[in-house]
Amino acid sequence: MGCSWRWQLSRAMRLSLRWCRPQRGARAGGGKAGVGGRLWELWTYTRLLLRSLYFNSLADSDTLLDCAFEPIYWIVDNVTRWFGVVFVCLVVLLTTSVVVIVYIFVLPTVFRTYSAFWTVWHFGCGHWLLVMLAFHYYKATVTPPGHPPKNQQGLPSVSICKKCIVPKPARTHHCSICNTCVLKMDHHCPWLNNCVGHFNHRYFFSFCLYMTLGCVYCSVSSRNLFLEAYSAVESYYQTAPPEYSFRESSAHKCIIFLWVLTSSVAVALGGLTLWHATLISRGETSVERHINRKETKRLRQQGKVFRNPYHHGRIDNWKLLLGVETPSHWLTRVLLPSSHPPRGDGMAWECVYGRREELLAV
Ligand SMILES: [Zn+2]
Ligand SMILES: [Zn+2]
Repeated sequence: MGCSWRWQLSRAMRLSLRWCRPQRGARAGGGKAGVGGRLWELWTYTRLLLRSLYFNSLADSDTLLDCAFEPIYWIVDNVTRWFGVVFVCLVVLLTTSVVVIVYIFVLPTVFRTYSAFWTVWHFGCGHWLLVMLAFHYYKATVTPPGHPPKNQQGLPSVSICKKCIVPKPARTHHCSICNTCVLKMDHHCPWLNNCVGHFNHRYFFSFCLYMTLGCVYCSVSSRNLFLEAYSAVESYYQTAPPEYSFRESSAHKCIIFLWVLTSSVAVALGGLTLWHATLISRGETSVERHINRKETKRLRQQGKVFRNPYHHGRIDNWKLLLGVETPSHWLTRVLLPSSHPPRGDGMAWECVYGRREELLAV
């Protein structure tokens, strides 16, 4: 079939060259049939030329759609790449504003009204959450997720990346925004302006977790202040509005901003964190979730059961992600800031069973 296409293409090119340089005889006796024939030849050539743009043994309607949508993908990828910087600035700005409001308006109220025990607890808990989320956000943003080496022989690969033209190890996927392959790719996060992969997956998840906890902490501890501020703001519109100083009215607005922002982020990010916790418990990344779902469906139609080769059991999956090897690591590596690298190089993966066993599993 391939030869036939090539032959037709070369014939059409020959014909088209003849069309461009008409022969003397044809020019002299150019009748209706001659013009019609040439038009047909030109049509054949154009059609073949168009087909040659997308033809290969794997071409189908999906490839055509991908080609048609390529400019849109390009715009989305570039916009996401550039907006990543804006999103990072937004995270830093909003977090800083929340911290400043807590320092100026919430902590003084805590010191004034709470007992010594609760004051120390608030001070300790608030600062621990702040340090943890700032550390993990910084590390998740600046740590490269890991990429397969470009000029190394004998890589343990499972396929070739069509865009990078390099061998792809297991669990590696191409990120069109970073325009490179990423080891154990989870997703591209615009809030980090970075891909989440093998080397920064733990930082990403810990950031989500501590940011959620920090927002829940701020939302719960400022709830009474919020209710007071809200009723005070409502009283602004009474016929005889109460007299508030500039500092008091600023405090009301800042506390309402703090509570609404932290409560919204706690709900939205809490949902995302739960979703990622579910994926980690299953030993899957976000990309693998889609692939495994398709595989499960495909194998079910064949009467087989899909088993994820990277699912080592719930607890072990968590230990692998968090780098917990001894019981003391739960404190030093999970509850305190730690820069320890993940286990393995992200290229060779320990499977819980062989591929043959997976395919034969019924
Ligand atoms: Zn690639
Ligand atoms: Zn990326």
